Amino acid sequence: MTKKQQKQILAYLRECANLMALRDWVLILGSEPPDDAAAAASVTPTWGRKHACFRFCSDFWGFSREVQREIVCHELVHLHFAAMVKWFQELENDGAITNHAGRAFNMNFEYGIDGVADGWSRVLPLPKFK
Ligand SMILES: [Zn+2]
Repeated sequence: MTKKQQKQILAYLRECANLMALRDWVLILGSEPPDDAAAAASVTPTWGRKHACFRFCSDFWGFSREVQREIVCHELVHLHFAAMVKWFQELENDGAITNHAGRAFNMNFEYGIDGVADGWSRVLPLPKFK
């Protein structure tokens, strides 16, 4: 990702976050692609702080503006649930939740996030990346 692209995606993340009631979050851009090679993007919140690191795959810049908007919205929706997910991960780490239940939660949670992002992204501005 070029410096120009970094600046543009951070500005777009900020614009969308402000419109999505995430104005008080500090948004950071990671230099590496997501750990999951199949993921278009990822977000990692910092526990106990309203800081989050976003990472985008190299293919991101080839997606349509509508798809880029939905990807950004999807990652931002995750932040509304950051504390709940952290709590769930702690239960998993403590063995209080089986791996099967954890996988089921994660899969269903992603479907939920994606459904919300599908609807919410349509009212967000499209990116104007150049
Ligand atoms: Zn997700």
